[in-house]
Amino acid sequence: MHIKVNIDTDVCIGAGQCALTAPNVFTQDDDGFSALLPGQENGTDDAMAKEAARACPVGAIKVSETTG
Ligand code: SF4
Repeated sequence: MHIKVNIDTDVCIGAGQCALTAPNVFTQDDDGFSALLPGQENGTDDAMAKEAARACPVGAIKVSETTG
């Protein structure tokens, strides 16, 4: 399973739920907004990325699953 993660930084309010939920995928930048950790830009195998998308209170995270 491979999960492409997209953060809509216009929507993100910096609640930090994503970094709490999937600390291997997300971090917060200096302003507290969500950012992908280095190496996660092309997708991740961490299923918690989907949980993070659910946890985001404003729906700023979009995930799309690909196989292979
Ligand atoms: S949980 Fe959503 S609003 Fe909060 S930092 Fe992550 S993307 Fe932004």
